[in-house]
Amino acid sequence: MIDKVIPYGRQNITQEDINVVVEALQSDYLTQGPKILEFEKAFAEYVGSTYAVAVSNGTAALHLCALALDVKDGDKVITTPITFAASANCVRYCGGEVVFSDIDPDTYLLDIEKVKALLEASPKGTYKGIIPVDFAGRAVDLEAYRKLADQYGLWIIEDACHAPGGFFADSNAETQNCGNSNFADMAIFSFHPVKHIACGEGGMVTTNNEVLYKKLLALRTHGITKSESDYSNTVDFANGIATESSVYPAWYMEMQTLGFNYRLTDFQAALGTSQLQRADDGLVKRRAIAAIYNEAFRGKSFIQGQSGVVEGHAYHLYVIEVEDRLGLYSYLRENNIFAQIHYIPCHLMPYYKQFGWKEGDMPNAEKYYKNCISLPMYPTLTNDEQEFVINKIEDFYSN
Ligand SMILES: *Cc1c(COP(=O)(O)O)cnc(C)c1O
Repeated sequence: MIDKVIPYGRQNITQEDINVVVEALQSDYLTQGPKILEFEKAFAEYVGSTYAVAVSNGTAALHLCALALDVKDGDKVITTPITFAASANCVRYCGGEVVFSDIDPDTYLLDIEKVKALLEASPKGTYKGIIPVDFAGRAVDLEAYRKLADQYGLWIIEDACHAPGGFFADSNAETQNCGNSNFADMAIFSFHPVKHIACGEGGMVTTNNEVLYKKLLALRTHGITKSESDYSNTVDFANGIATESSVYPAWYMEMQTLGFNYRLTDFQAALGTSQLQRADDGLVKRRAIAAIYNEAFRGKSFIQGQSGVVEGHAYHLYVIEVEDRLGLYSYLRENNIFAQIHYIPCHLMPYYKQFGWKEGDMPNAEKYYKNCISLPMYPTLTNDEQEFVINKIEDFYSN
């Protein structure tokens, strides 16, 4: 018996992380200081994007993307029901309409064939964008989505919260990192403690589009710009006096659009940069844990399905589909193993049911939900703990 709780995911904070946070706390800036750009640059380099914008959490990242893409009342946006609600909610924040489309029962990802069918069934212009999710850490084939999106003039926001370090191979066998924005207009990440990189709370938007980048920067901080070339009021007004000079005073700034305060603090950014140094080690560990589960469950009759063995899987989650999921979940909890369910299908949340979504609309997602369970998966899970988890699962099904 292992007496401490084994959760499905957890952060790994080292002394080095603690040191950099303390250092940031003792510096001149708790927020709006140099640690933000440092983190953004390191993160952009890590995923291979041109730009990165750090924000207060992944949900704020999604909201800013929807705002930057000008999502408006009634705009239809397609996403998967098997995701955290925030992937869909960002559309609603802007008054848009969420159109759920079913998952592929093998990959658990938004099924591109179903999206294609949806697009073909309506006149062009009906839909504005697609939000695919690298669910569990498995990379979406964004090259295929880009082709489809271009046919219909759609934008793409990649929800890569589960997949920093994940990748897929494109049609030229080139590696495409999740969040590199080579195919998506923007990608978003979360730094909640259960995700790969922990900041407490935190998020990131990555993009290769300079126009979107500038919009994101302004929207993150009240819609304010401090860039002279963008000013719309006159120098005379700004100085409060008629002047020969063409120089705006140092205090001057303009609020040009309706933005938010979605900033990350400097001490969180310092933690993020420190965590990022170990991201690849964490990934190696996650993939090793997945390999052990794969081996242990190979050919087991109680497993109906499990996270595919694919290169580039970032393994935020290790999901299996089992018979008597409730029984297994309860048995594991009795043994201090806190497995989790990801996700209750979004379209069946009471909030979304009010728009007419109902049981039967997404058969694959609904069947998946009945059987899915996410097993402990995090870099500090020990071999003994994992063996304990595997033994308990086998015990449950042999009784
Ligand atoms: C965690 C998560 C989010 C939201 O991130 P927060 O930082 O918690 O706001 C969005 N989408 C997915 C898929 C997530 O897992």
